[in-house]
Amino acid sequence: MTLDTPIGELYGVGPKYEQYFNKNGIFTVNDLLYYFPRAYQNRKDVYKIDTPVFDNMPHSYVLTVASEPKVAMIRRGMNILKFRAFDDSGSITVTYFNQNYLKDVFRTGATFRFWGRIVKEKRTLSLNSPSYEPCVREEELPPFVSIYPLFQGVTQKYISKLVSQIRPCISTLIKEYIPSDIRYKYHLCALPFALENIHFPESDEALHAAIKRLTFDELFIFALSLSQMKTVSSSKLAPRMNDGDASPLVDMLPYELTDAQKKVISDICGDMCSTNAVSDADFSMFTRPMNRIIVGDVGSGKTVCAAVAAYIACKNGYQCALMVPTEILAFQHYDSLFPMFNSLGLKCELLTGSTPKKEKNQILSRLKSGDTDFVIGTHALIQTGVEFKNLGLVITDEQHRFGVMQRAKLAEKSASAHVLVMSATPIPRTLSLMIYGDLDISLIDTMPPGRKKVNTYSVDSSYRSRLNAFIRKQVENKNQVYIVCPSVEEKKENDLDTPDYNPFIIDIKDDTPPLKAAVDYAKELKENIFPDLTVEFLHGKMKCKEKDEIMMHFANGEIDILVSTTVIEVGVNVPNATLMIVENAERFGLSQLHQLRGRVGRGKDQSFCVLVSDARSPKSMERLQIMHTTYDGYTIAEKDLQMRGPGDFFSSSDSIRQSGELGFNIAKSCNDNILLHNAFECAREILKDDRSLSKPEHELLRKKVSELCNLNAQTIS
Ligand code: ADP
Ligand code: MG
Repeated sequence: MTLDTPIGELYGVGPKYEQYFNKNGIFTVNDLLYYFPRAYQNRKDVYKIDTPVFDNMPHSYVLTVASEPKVAMIRRGMNILKFRAFDDSGSITVTYFNQNYLKDVFRTGATFRFWGRIVKEKRTLSLNSPSYEPCVREEELPPFVSIYPLFQGVTQKYISKLVSQIRPCISTLIKEYIPSDIRYKYHLCALPFALENIHFPESDEALHAAIKRLTFDELFIFALSLSQMKTVSSSKLAPRMNDGDASPLVDMLPYELTDAQKKVISDICGDMCSTNAVSDADFSMFTRPMNRIIVGDVGSGKTVCAAVAAYIACKNGYQCALMVPTEILAFQHYDSLFPMFNSLGLKCELLTGSTPKKEKNQILSRLKSGDTDFVIGTHALIQTGVEFKNLGLVITDEQHRFGVMQRAKLAEKSASAHVLVMSATPIPRTLSLMIYGDLDISLIDTMPPGRKKVNTYSVDSSYRSRLNAFIRKQVENKNQVYIVCPSVEEKKENDLDTPDYNPFIIDIKDDTPPLKAAVDYAKELKENIFPDLTVEFLHGKMKCKEKDEIMMHFANGEIDILVSTTVIEVGVNVPNATLMIVENAERFGLSQLHQLRGRVGRGKDQSFCVLVSDARSPKSMERLQIMHTTYDGYTIAEKDLQMRGPGDFFSSSDSIRQSGELGFNIAKSCNDNILLHNAFECAREILKDDRSLSKPEHELLRKKVSELCNLNAQTIS
């Protein structure tokens, strides 16, 4: 067996199962090894039958079978198998459904370690369908059982059997790629140990060491890849714009630019019109490509900066493409930018997934011939078949919806273009230097004048009827309301798969009010509370087209109340919406709440944000309190980082959604700021002496880095 051995060659994996794995990105032994558990059951802490259990979670019980299992038919097709079992604190009934063969497993007098929830039914205690392991000597049983993320066709048992097959080979197959001095310096365990213990933890300490090491690796390799990308992009050339005068466009604006916007625009012009010598050849036509991100809070006015950049590219005879994550955002940008460009004599077009085929072909040919100066669109813009005559500038909006490395790839597609990205996600300074390490950053830190702040309150669900009255009042004033819920549909209860021990999740257990679900809640409101109003729902599992339609109706004022998951957070502008209600506010990151709040307060009317939460832990309350007093996205982001750790930024939907493309698997749950810092620090140190990772001791590391870069290249196409 090698790391490249196809998964199909493992014992027990037929062609059908191989397909299931392949579909989920697992092709080789190595892929399986890096398919980490999502949680662990702590089975080493054995409870007694009479131990009081308050958490309604499954636990371990070591019990001896007291009576021969009896099978009874309760109805057609439903058998029940029962027996008594005991420990030194009492006895209990153990039951299984439709598993008659277990009769031969549970021999009287034999001892097992069970894992399940004890329930009380009519004064008898019973354990229903617990997992079990034969137990001769308790200490020989594994202390933890890993819970893997499942996908179609596989069960927990199946995956762990397969991982067990490769376990004995881990120490011979896995080669350490982090030099030992670094491992000592940052207290990192060896890679084979980490991989073994992430799947089969031998103790709490070993598990945490494994998590730390594997998290470090992801962050570290990501940090190295970023700088690699920067090296590549700075070696390229982009057209130099000779005419940097944006005043014809700026003069048309109905408002004065803020100082922050002026600064950003001068950064942009500085990049694109730079006369910096590129090399010794005569490159009067070229310069180093701009590689800049505009970071500014929602509503800070990034669009007009992008428009200026586009205008400069176009007036110098180059084409510009502006890519946005959703169709509706594309429409909105087109509506606001088309008139300006049109009156400046520049041809501006819109290309999205729903552009009719015939029209699309015409647009494509105009892009190719160079007739079109400026195209605004969705992902449709980077599909094959889209060719430009002389693309000089590529802009992406709401950067966090695209992959970090997608951007690089997009720039690559257009052999020599400037790149400008915009992001409304306030990312703490420390993180943004890391995440956007390959970009120059322009910050818009002031808002256009005259913005009203969104009054923010938090309430618990005892305010429900007052809240509903408030909703009604907004609608009577001809305004619109957003209600955001944390989940799409009601979760099924009693999922035995729920682990009791999850080192990745820290503070949820003591504080989990039931979740409001968008679809169900919309139905309830529609049928019982606001039958006379238009209530619709929106969530990420809907088809793009449906989502865009709903959003369009909302933007046109045809929907009064929009119940939604966080999909609405992307920069759509509905000035008429004045109330944002966030249900289960305890579930959202602070930055995410800030982002959501930015959906309202865009028009002339006073707007409100109500955070509904029944969570009562001091930590939850403190978090919500921050939202009442803080309106600056950066301050909020910094506090979020302090309180929740970087994992929140990597994994939660509010920020850096590309965590998958970052190569983050385990690191997306990282809550350790120091580890993050160390990983980037360490990357810097290594690159200082060995920019291209060409020293022999860095060979394996270089391979890892290029794997990540290639992986990202593939996800683009
Ligand atoms: P975002 O940064 O979230 O993309 P937008 O660019 O959509 O923000 O701008 C939000 C709103 O503010 C728009 O309606 C825009 O016309 C307006 N705006 C932008 N700059 C200014 C300014 N300097 N003064 C007044 N209004 C402005
Ligand atoms: Mg915007």
